[in-house]
Parts: sequence; C-alpha cells; structure tokens
Amino acid sequence: MRRTLIAGNWKMNASLSGNIKLLDAIKAGAADVAEGCDLLVCVPAPYLAQCQAELRGSGVAWGAQTVSEHDSGAYTGDVAAAMLLEFGCSHVIVGHSERRTYHGESNAAVAKKVVQALKSGLTPIVCVGETLAERQANRTDAVVGEQLDAVLEAVQPDDVARLVVAYEPLWAIGTGITATPRMAQTVHEVLRAKIAAKNAGAAPHVRILYGGSMKPDNAGQLLAMPDIDGGLIGGASLKAEDFLAIAQAAQPVKA
Ligand code: PEP
Repeated sequence: MRRTLIAGNWKMNASLSGNIKLLDAIKAGAADVAEGCDLLVCVPAPYLAQCQAELRGSGVAWGAQTVSEHDSGAYTGDVAAAMLLEFGCSHVIVGHSERRTYHGESNAAVAKKVVQALKSGLTPIVCVGETLAERQANRTDAVVGEQLDAVLEAVQPDDVARLVVAYEPLWAIGTGITATPRMAQTVHEVLRAKIAAKNAGAAPHVRILYGGSMKPDNAGQLLAMPDIDGGLIGGASLKAEDFLAIAQAAQPVKA
C-alpha cells in the first residue's frame, strides 16, 4: 500500500513574507486534500526554521533540497543531516538534476548523500532522469537505471523501503513539456523492477514520484498511472492554489 506524496520543490525561490502567505494558504487547503495523500514542501535551508514554526502540527511536512554526505566539519556552505533534523525536516531531495548539473554531483556522490540521510533518519527523495539527447538515443532506461543502481548498491537492503524515488526527465523540468502518462509509467515500471531486484518485499511500498512540469491540468492523468505515486512539483508548488489542485487530483492510495 502506497500513500500518495505531493512534494513541492521551491528551489531558490522564497522570502520570509511571501512564505507566510504561501504556507498559510497550503495549511488552509490541506484539510480538503484526501486522506491518504501526504503534503510536503522542500524549501531553501534558511527558511527551515520558519517552516518549523508555521507548519508544526499542521499535517504538512517540510524538508530540504540537498544534504552533505558528511556528519560535520570543514565543509563550507554545506548543511548536515543533523542540522536538518534540528529544524524538523522529515525529507530531503537528493540528486536533483540541478544539483547534478550545476554542482557536479555524480552518481557516487548522490549515493553517499542518500546513505547519510538514511543513517540520520531522514527520508531521501532520490531524483533520477535523462536528458532529451539521452531519450532520443533510446538511453532512458540505461541512464535512470545507472543513477538508481548507484544508490541501491550503497544502501542496506533493509533500508530500501525507506527510499522515495523521483523520476524527473530533464527535458520536462521547468519547460512546460510533460512526459505523457504512458511514457512516465514505463520508466516508473523500470525503476520499480530495479528496486525489486534489490529487495522484492520493499518494492511495492516504495513511492515513485513523477516530476517535470506537473500542473493541475495534467496531474490527474499522471497520478492515475499505477506506478506514479505522487509528484515532485517545482514551479506549480509556488502557487498554493496549483499545489493544492494537484494534490486534489491525486488518487490517495495505491495498492
Ligand atoms: C523540479 O525541479 O523538481 C520540477 C519538477 O520542476 P517543474 O515542476 O517546474 O518542472
């Protein structure tokens, strides 16, 4: 049984005053979201304290957008998992394509961060996805497979059930172009089969999110697919109305 997870990725967009309005509206609308659908916002690290104050007890969870692979020490600019936990984070996005592209995060580095998140008690949302050129070269399954395998090889079999995976084709992120439900479902099936190869018992419980220009008008069809268990939402998560409309389009629980 898999509860749907609708996760917002605010990226580097936020301000103290704007956040209050957005979080208040999300909290107000959360009551109308079906039982069985979880809401999460992943915000820039400086705003985690604000989320903790605003969202505690609301039923809306909050998390971060990356985490260090190290416990602590001389790693200027990095944020440790223990710090995220002090501010009440439950989840952390790991290996988002923007981190891979702009910060050179390799599959190996992503795997270390996932291990660190799990060790600390955070739920990692592991992002995988192919470029347009890779899709056109029929390399989608190979690329996302390598990205996920690096993580699956690094984690203990017992921890596999604690992963959330997000399939985010790079050509769909922030472009307004969405994978068709069938295209996304096909990749989600590949990912679930890989998870099953590592831990067959865990695979039916791992939530696999779709991300890439998910909006209120396409969310219903995407979320109706049997292996699409939620969304990782960028642009549309910055408008409470759109974020909540996506959550309302979700089928709360997948068998
Ligand atoms: C993302 O960056 O995780 C994302 C899915 O962005 P968008 O929804 O804006 O395409």
